[in-house]
Amino acid sequence: MSNIESTNNPYLLLTPGPLTTSDTVRLAMMKDWCTWDDEYNNIVQGIRKDLIQLATTNTEKYSTVLMQGSGTFSVESVIGTAIPRDGKLLVIGNGAYGYRIGEIAEMLNIETVMLDSGEVSDPDIDELDRTLAADKGITHVAVVHCETTTGRLNPIEKVSGVVKKHNRIFILDAMSSFGGIEMDIDQLGVHYLISSANKCIEGVPGFGFIIVNKDEFEKCGGNARSLSLDLYNQWKTMEENNGKWRFTSPTHVVRAFAQALKELQEEGGVAARAARYRDNQRTLVEGMRKLGFTTLLSDENQSPIITSFNFPDADSFTFAEFYSRLKTKGFVIYPGKVTNLDTFRIGNIGAVTPEKVNDLLTAIEESSYWKSPV
Ligand SMILES: *Cc1c(COP(=O)(O)O)cnc(C)c1O
Repeated sequence: MSNIESTNNPYLLLTPGPLTTSDTVRLAMMKDWCTWDDEYNNIVQGIRKDLIQLATTNTEKYSTVLMQGSGTFSVESVIGTAIPRDGKLLVIGNGAYGYRIGEIAEMLNIETVMLDSGEVSDPDIDELDRTLAADKGITHVAVVHCETTTGRLNPIEKVSGVVKKHNRIFILDAMSSFGGIEMDIDQLGVHYLISSANKCIEGVPGFGFIIVNKDEFEKCGGNARSLSLDLYNQWKTMEENNGKWRFTSPTHVVRAFAQALKELQEEGGVAARAARYRDNQRTLVEGMRKLGFTTLLSDENQSPIITSFNFPDADSFTFAEFYSRLKTKGFVIYPGKVTNLDTFRIGNIGAVTPEKVNDLLTAIEESSYWKSPV
C-alpha cells in the first residue's frame, strides 16, 4: 500500500480539492525559481507529456494546454474557445457543475440546450440520442464525469456511444475524476478533457489543464471570447516556445504538480490510486452505515471520489455543530450542495488512506452528540 506522509497540517481535509497533499508536494514550493529559463520550461513540457500518457495510449492524437486559475477558468476557456460563433452546445446537467457549464455558455452568448435530469438522477441517454438526432445544429456535447455535487459517477461510456454515433464534438469535465479513475479518452472519443491541479493528481490549487484532440483544436483559432482565457493562443504559445505560458505562470504550483505526478507514478499509476480511493470509499460507507447514516445515492451510481450522506433524522442535529466537533478532532468535512435536500459530503481523495478513514469514523462516533438523551 501507499506510504503517504502528510504532517504539519492542522487537520485532514476530506474535501475534494483543495485537499491534503503530501509533505514532499508542499516542500517542492519552498524555493523561488526563474520562470523563463529552460529548466522551468522543461518541467512544463514534461507535465504536458505525462498528462497525455495518463489519459490515453494513443498519445500522438492529443496535446495538453495548462491554464492559470481554478478549474472553472479552464472550463470557461474550453467553452469560449472550442465552440465557433455559429456553434451550439448541449449540456448534460445533473448537478451544480453541469449547470455551471450552461451558465458559462449563456454568459458567452453561446446557444445552449440543457438536458437536465435533476440533481439526483442519471442522465437520460435516450433523450440525448433523440435530441442529437432532431437538432443537427448542435455541434458540441458537454458532460461532467464525477458530479462532485452529489458524488455521482455519470455513465460516460454510454454518453460517448451516442455522441460518436451522431458525430459531435465531445467535452468532458473530468475535474474530480482524472488521475483517480481509469479512462482512455481516445476510446471514449473525447475531444476536450478538463481537469485541475488540486484534485486526483493531488497537487495544490493554481491552474487547470485541458487535453485536446489536436486535429479538432487546430480549427479553433480566433474563436475565443476572452483574451486571458483564449485557450488556442495559450496552446500556440506553449507549442511554439517550449512550454512557455502567455502570462505569469504559477511557478511554485507547477513545481508541486510535477512532484505530485512523480508520486502518482510511485504509487503505481492511476489503477493503484483508483484502488486506494475505492478502499477509502468502501471503508467510509461501511463504517457510516454502522453508525446509522444513509447515503444519498445508491451504491451503483456512487463514485469513489466523494460521498453524500443524508442528515441524521434528529432535530438536534446541525451541520455547523457536527462540523466544528470534527474539526476539533482534526477532520474537515464538506457541506452538501444539493438544492433541496439536507446532506453533507465526505471526500476520499488526497493523502488519505483507509487507516485515516477509520480514525475519522471513530471521531464521528465520538461526535454523535444528537444521539445522547437531552
Ligand atoms: C472542482 C470542480 C470544478 C471546478 O471548480 P473550481 O472551484 O473552479 O476549481 C468543476 N467541475 C467539477 C466536476 C469539479 O469537481
